[in-house]
Amino acid sequence: MYHHVKKLMYTVHVDTPDPRFGNMLLEQFGGANGELAAAMQYSIQGLNCEDPERKDLLMDIGTEELSHLEIVGALARLHLKPMKTDRDAAEADPLIAIAGGGGVNLFNSMGDPWTADYLKITGELDVDLRSNIAAEARAKIVYERLINFCDDPGTKDALQFLMTREITHMKAFTAALVSMGKDPFEIGKIPPTPGLVDQFFNDSTGEGDDGEIDARGPWNEGDDWEFVEAPAFDGSATPATRKPGDTPNSARTKKRASK
Ligand code: MN
Ligand code: MN
Repeated sequence: MYHHVKKLMYTVHVDTPDPRFGNMLLEQFGGANGELAAAMQYSIQGLNCEDPERKDLLMDIGTEELSHLEIVGALARLHLKPMKTDRDAAEADPLIAIAGGGGVNLFNSMGDPWTADYLKITGELDVDLRSNIAAEARAKIVYERLINFCDDPGTKDALQFLMTREITHMKAFTAALVSMGKDPFEIGKIPPTPGLVDQFFNDSTGEGDDGEIDARGPWNEGDDWEFVEAPAFDGSATPATRKPGDTPNSARTKKRASK
């Protein structure tokens, strides 16, 4: 059950309206990493969720995101307001000024309509929580960029609040994922193919004109990693045609030669 309270979650003041900035704000209203996308993603995941504790978490945060949508909408509306009457302001975004009457609508900053394609809903709770952690990180960085491009103290203040809440949510989703007690690479039920899962294919090699390097690091060496040098050049097979238990290129080349 939803209920609307006629009060913003965070009071919004705009000292100097800036229609062009209002347009940028729409990215967090009807954009891919915006508040409606967050609200819908978590709420619909929550609707599907069969884990009562984490269902509650998803509904709590999904609902808070709707309150964020209301804040961003209020903020954007105040910035867009001059478009209602001022020709120069209207030229900042004719779609908003002429078709929308200078108000907010569910578009991103480029005028693309909001779409459910933005949502990541898999029905697998741990996978969804990972998507949510990433979504919060994206929302955080978008708010940070908006803050960096904003001169208005009142607007900055509200954006700082919204940005902070995304980190709060990121912390909650991360704690919920960890509390499920799953191995970080245990996704779904079918185990990955032994051996193949630990092979790192060095598929980008050589040194680039701008100093690009062939790097080694914990993502391809140490622990269980087996580093497979340039599989495309080993004269036999692409990685996709390897069979379970196949040895990496150097050893396999030897095996073939002995046939
Ligand atoms: Mn939010
Ligand atoms: Mn959030």
